Amino acid sequence: MAYAVPAPAQTVLPVRGSEAMFPVGRIFCVGRNYAEHTREMGHDPDREPPFFFMKPATSIVAGGGDMPYPPGTADLHHEMELVAAIGTGGRDISEEDALSHVFGYAAGLDMTRRDLQDFAKQHGRPWEVGKAFDHAAPCSSVTMASEIGHPETGAVRLHVNGTLRQDGDISQMIWSLPEVIAHISVLFALMPGDLIMTGTPAGVAGVSPGDRLKGEVEGVGRIEVKVV
Ligand code: MN
Repeated sequence: MAYAVPAPAQTVLPVRGSEAMFPVGRIFCVGRNYAEHTREMGHDPDREPPFFFMKPATSIVAGGGDMPYPPGTADLHHEMELVAAIGTGGRDISEEDALSHVFGYAAGLDMTRRDLQDFAKQHGRPWEVGKAFDHAAPCSSVTMASEIGHPETGAVRLHVNGTLRQDGDISQMIWSLPEVIAHISVLFALMPGDLIMTGTPAGVAGVSPGDRLKGEVEGVGRIEVKVV
């Protein structure tokens, strides 16, 4: 088959302990999934139904490394998150069955142009300019669930220039991963290759060019990013 213009390259993440790569499809992100972060963003952490937004696969910075400071913002925030990598698709997936659809896990950053997101919120506009820009999703390699199981606890930490900024735990998620998968799969048919960024603990803040970010999801993976 001939393409009329160059075909987009498939975004991939390395899989730890495997020659095979994980092909990235869509990136679903969960908003306000940790109570303390919900409070720091000025909202009530009562258990309202989970809500979602997306980033394109092209926003992945595979394995970390240099992340260019994006245009159009003066307030680029870090959000360190557990990422679930979907291996088996499906719709209307039950909570009981949800984890069987997860191929593995990664440590990812939901980078956010907070000033643009805040403007969008205030004006009832979509969030893409705040969340779905180029290089907005640095992500570690994928660790297979067949190797580590499905973590229910584990620290989610981020250091910036050696200072601890975020220090939460997967167990603090308002909506657990099985509940998140059950909710998303009602609204979208999940597909192999989809990633789910599961939300961030408290401590989000701005970064500047030259800053070094070191993130970790305990038992899952690490990521290092330099803002350039
Ligand atoms: Mn987030």
